[in-house]
Amino acid sequence: MAESATSSSRPRVLSGMRPTGKLHLGNYMGALANWVKLQDQYECYFFIADWHALTTDYADPSRIKINTLDVALDFLSAGLDPEKSTIFIQSHVPQHAELHLLFSMITPLGWLERVPSYKEMQENLSSKDLTTYGFLGYPVLMASDILLYQPQFVPVGQDQTAHVELTREVARRFNSMYKTSVFPEPEALFTPSPKVPGLDGRKMSKSYGNTIGISEPPALVAKKVAEMSTNGQRIRQTDPGDPNLCPVADLHRVFSSHEMISSHEHGCRTATIRCEFCKIDAANSICAVTQPISDKRFRLEGEIEQTWDMLRSMSVKAAARAEQTMLSVRNIFDLSHDLGAIKRHFMASNKDLVKAHDLSQNSSWWNLPQDQQSKLLRDYWKLNLLPRDIQLSQESNRVFTSLDRELEEPFLSVKNKRVLVSAMTAQQEPNGWHFWIPPKSYEVWTLLCWHRTYWLDDFVIPQKFYAQPFAQAKKKAKDKPIHLRVWKIGEKWNMEFVDLLEREMVGNAIRVQAMEPIDITELRSNYEPLK
Ligand code: SF4
Repeated sequence: MAESATSSSRPRVLSGMRPTGKLHLGNYMGALANWVKLQDQYECYFFIADWHALTTDYADPSRIKINTLDVALDFLSAGLDPEKSTIFIQSHVPQHAELHLLFSMITPLGWLERVPSYKEMQENLSSKDLTTYGFLGYPVLMASDILLYQPQFVPVGQDQTAHVELTREVARRFNSMYKTSVFPEPEALFTPSPKVPGLDGRKMSKSYGNTIGISEPPALVAKKVAEMSTNGQRIRQTDPGDPNLCPVADLHRVFSSHEMISSHEHGCRTATIRCEFCKIDAANSICAVTQPISDKRFRLEGEIEQTWDMLRSMSVKAAARAEQTMLSVRNIFDLSHDLGAIKRHFMASNKDLVKAHDLSQNSSWWNLPQDQQSKLLRDYWKLNLLPRDIQLSQESNRVFTSLDRELEEPFLSVKNKRVLVSAMTAQQEPNGWHFWIPPKSYEVWTLLCWHRTYWLDDFVIPQKFYAQPFAQAKKKAKDKPIHLRVWKIGEKWNMEFVDLLEREMVGNAIRVQAMEPIDITELRSNYEPLK
């Protein structure tokens, strides 16, 4: 599986929000405040889902960009930090659309019609015609958004679990259909998110017109709260009220301290506090959250170009990570951009075959940890260089997630030959590669030697070439991996067992008494079937 050059060892999370304009407290408490906390613990990707906005607002796209910027400004004002998180715009990373298209090939229609929000949103947004292909497919776009970054977790509210479940189903279907493990199934990460009541007591939502914006100035917040209805409680201030029936008390429960909540609820029940003061205190509790956000937003609005530039460069960074995934996906769909080894099927010349070993298109591999490089090389070999007539069997034609496991369970060819594909190589000298082979029995070794010039040399070595020295080396190594060295002199390639070399001091020099090296020149790019 591909990894980012900038990836860390922290688990990765990804989440996004539609650009619906300035965010309100429901958005903040339901998601954004948690995202801010996640930044220190996880490798975070947060995006603004402008393509998603078009699934419902396609008829009038005039506010997409301004709404995107509004959300971005609120993200930053609320504490998302570009130094810690990758904050980007979905449509600036075209790989989202590419993966969406490919996933839409394999996603059964029934899965989409079953998504609970499909019917629900159609009913709620009855003024819009949502009988479109794009709207039906938006959960697939969501699955693509998520899986493109191969995250371990997706922070969501309880109402979005169906989307994460669909994403997991898409990943499972893809992995099983193509015998791969490109997409780990992400887990829903439930974070505490209190339901924020709107000004009228219903759920806070723009469509109800009952919101308090997270970047609204304190005077506006105070005015909105002062005008709230008490839901019939305390018509006369001498009447006792029931705070369980008043939306102002609901706001206190989310934003005020325990002491204030209990003293105000007592004051409400005993008619010893005026609603006016209860509301002022609720507004103050809210402003303790919103005022710093509002102040920061005011500053950021004065630097709008820098914010836009930041979003663009973060989108480039996200695209680089997304491209790592797409390299594997395109290979699986046989859509990779390089012609690759397929040339040999069209009477390729030697020169063309040489080109098929050029990995310069995958130059970002160098930045990956070594075990991931090795895994990519093995995948590359299997998909591009493995002769079609060898074919690995269904059962073993899979990518192991753990290197140890892979070494223990070699690939099997269709003829049940045990094939070790080793790229666990560190190039420790010019034109020299070192391999550590498990002391197990294989019928074929495939050694992948990767040059710093993005060149791959591959050797398919049948057992008869190494059986005898390997047995000797195994005895000597006593169950430890066998150290093998492959090196090139001029046009000639040699292989030797390092454990069998005898070193002795001759004067001041070390003389290495080598066994006769095994000439494997002829086995380079040797694609005879594994008989
Ligand atoms: S005192 Fe507060 S909770 Fe009670 S009715 Fe008045 S505004 Fe509502």
